[in-house]
Amino acid sequence: MPVDRVTVGSVEIVRVTDGSMFGSPAFFFSGIPSDMYGPALGDDLTPNGTVEVEFGSFLVRSSGKTLLIDTGMGNKRGSPGGRLLDSLKQLGVRPGDIDVVMNTHLHIDHVGWNCIEQDGAFVPTFPNAEYWVAEKEWSFWTSDPDLVAEEGQHLVSDVLPLRDCPQLKLVDGEAAITAEVSLLPTPGHTPGHSSLAISSAGESAIILGDIAHHPLHLERLWIASVDELPRTSRRTKRALAQRLIDEHLLVAAGHFSSGAFGRLVMANGRRSWRTL
Ligand SMILES: [Zn+2]
Repeated sequence: MPVDRVTVGSVEIVRVTDGSMFGSPAFFFSGIPSDMYGPALGDDLTPNGTVEVEFGSFLVRSSGKTLLIDTGMGNKRGSPGGRLLDSLKQLGVRPGDIDVVMNTHLHIDHVGWNCIEQDGAFVPTFPNAEYWVAEKEWSFWTSDPDLVAEEGQHLVSDVLPLRDCPQLKLVDGEAAITAEVSLLPTPGHTPGHSSLAISSAGESAIILGDIAHHPLHLERLWIASVDELPRTSRRTKRALAQRLIDEHLLVAAGHFSSGAFGRLVMANGRRSWRTL
């Protein structure tokens, strides 16, 4: 069984899932022919030619605060997810216990539980939480009405309702959530995409966000069809992959179905993912 809980110094990181789905590898590996991704995927490729992707969030306990990193697909509009609140409950965590919700970016599978419907309005699911979003990410998705119309309803139900809400906290650059956990701008998948850098008592880790949906994104630097800025995404992947190797960083990857925690290492001259 892959590990679903790690400690980094005095910080605890726990994987919590909202569910999973199976999708086409062509969706995850943009422009990569099947005779290339097939052998590379190996056992991860199902007999009907799909690959599983997890809707993984992380519960982080740091400096007396409880952080929830991303909120999954949610349960609206026939979502394939919907398990996040149950997953938290199994850990004894109620929505009111969350101090900070942080969205690595504002795609549908990362904001799904941001809000719930109450008396005909969408209100924050986590009543006591600050909602942290990178300013650049927020303005990209919310300032153009045509983009809101094109991208569908998740912005209407789970992003825009936060606009006039005192819980919303828009931040710039490497903002620190606690003394041990900071945003790390990693643009490309979306313009204001952020990972999380964790450092405590001499140990370090990174929560990737959607830098990688599958280990092959780190090993081969392949990009996903859902990357808004493909060339930037590739540059960010390249730089971060090198850092993961050089600093031997512990990695938390919410979409990896084979296990959320691992390390990227060099083996026989190639980047290679090792699940914990
Ligand atoms: Zn995603």
